[in-house]
Amino acid sequence: KLHNTILELKGNVRVFCRVRPLMPDEDDNGGTEPIVQYPNSTELMGRGIELVQSQGQKHTFTFDKVFGPEVMQEDVFVEISQLVQSALDGYKVCIFAYGQTGSGKTHTMLGNQDRPEQRGVIPRSLEQIFKTSQALSSTGWSFRMQASMLEIYNETIRDLLARPGNGNGNENGTPAKQHIVKHDLNGNTIVSDLTLVEVSNWKEVASLLQRAAQSRSVGKTAMNEQSSRSHCVFTLRISGVNESTEQQVHGVLNLIDLAGSERLSRSCSTGDRLKETQAINKSLSSLGDVILAIGNKEQHIPYRNSKLTYLLQPCLGGDSKTLMFVNISPDSKSLNESLCSLRFAAKVN
Ligand code: ADP
Ligand code: MG
Repeated sequence: KLHNTILELKGNVRVFCRVRPLMPDEDDNGGTEPIVQYPNSTELMGRGIELVQSQGQKHTFTFDKVFGPEVMQEDVFVEISQLVQSALDGYKVCIFAYGQTGSGKTHTMLGNQDRPEQRGVIPRSLEQIFKTSQALSSTGWSFRMQASMLEIYNETIRDLLARPGNGNGNENGTPAKQHIVKHDLNGNTIVSDLTLVEVSNWKEVASLLQRAAQSRSVGKTAMNEQSSRSHCVFTLRISGVNESTEQQVHGVLNLIDLAGSERLSRSCSTGDRLKETQAINKSLSSLGDVILAIGNKEQHIPYRNSKLTYLLQPCLGGDSKTLMFVNISPDSKSLNESLCSLRFAAKVN
C-alpha cells in the first residue's frame, strides 16, 4: 500500500539507472577512485550512484534503483516484470532507455538474441506476456495482440515493419509514405499506414525484430549512426475479453530505445532549460519536458512539441505507467556525458 502511495505521488514515473561493464579498451580512472561509485550500498543493486571528477568533486544521485555492471539481464527484468504485467491488466505502459551512444540502451532493451541469458527487456517482456495470457485462458480470457515497430528520425516516422518497396520509399524514387499520428476518442494512438502484425508467440515477434533490424540498416547510413539519432518504438497493443464475465481490457506496452543523449549535451553543459536548446533532437528534449511536467503535476503537458511525445501521449501521464532506464558508461572519457544523463534523469525522477 505504502509503495503504491509513493508511486501515486510521483505520477507513476520511475527511473532505474544501469551502469554497463567497462570495455577492455576503456579506463575507469584507476583502481583507487573509479569515476562511478555506489555510495552506502555494498549490494549489487542499490539506489545511490556517485560520479567522481578528477578534482575529487563528487556528484551523488539517488534513483528508484541502480544496477551496477555485474547485474544480469535476468535480474533487471525481475525488477520490471510487474510493470510489464500491468499492460495485460489494461494499463498503458512506457519503458524507455536513455543515455549516450554506447552506454547500453540497445543491450538493455533488445540484448543479444543469440544468447538466451543476454536477451533484453523486449524479448523477456513478450515472453512473459504470452505465457501469462495463455495461463489466463483457463479463466475465460482470450487476448488479441498486435505489434508495430517504428523509428522517429528527424521528426519523421518510418515504419520498420513495412515490406520492402511498400511504404518506406526506395532507390528508384518511390517516395516514402507519410505517417500521420492521430488520437481517437478512446485515447488510442493511430498512425496512418503503419503495419500492425498480429502476434501470439515469441517466434513471430522474433521474426518481426529481424525484419525491423533489416529495415533500419537499409540505405547508406551506417546502422550505428542511424540508431544514435533515431528513436525506435516497439508497441504491443493488447485487447483481452473474458467470455464468461464479458470483462474487457485494453493495454499498451511501449518499449523505446531512444536516440543517443549526446545530442542534448550542449543544453546540459550550458545549463539551459531543455526546451530552449537548439533542438538537435526535438523529440528527446521534449520527452524530458513532458515527463518533468507530468512529475510536477502541471496543468499543461507539452505533448505536441514533438513526434515522440505526441505519439505516446495517451501512454504518458494519467494513470499510465512510465519507467526510464538511464544507461551509463563507466569509462572516464564519458564522465561529462554520464553527468548530463544523470542530471536529466534526476530531474524527471
Ligand atoms: P547503445 O545502444 O546505448 O548505443 P549498446 O547497447 O549498443 O549501447 O552497448 C554498447 C556495447 O556495450 C555493446 O557491445 C553491448 O553489447 C555492450 N553492453 C552494454 N551494456 C552491457 C551490459 N550490461 N553487459 C554487457 N555488455 C554490455
Ligand atoms: Mg543502440
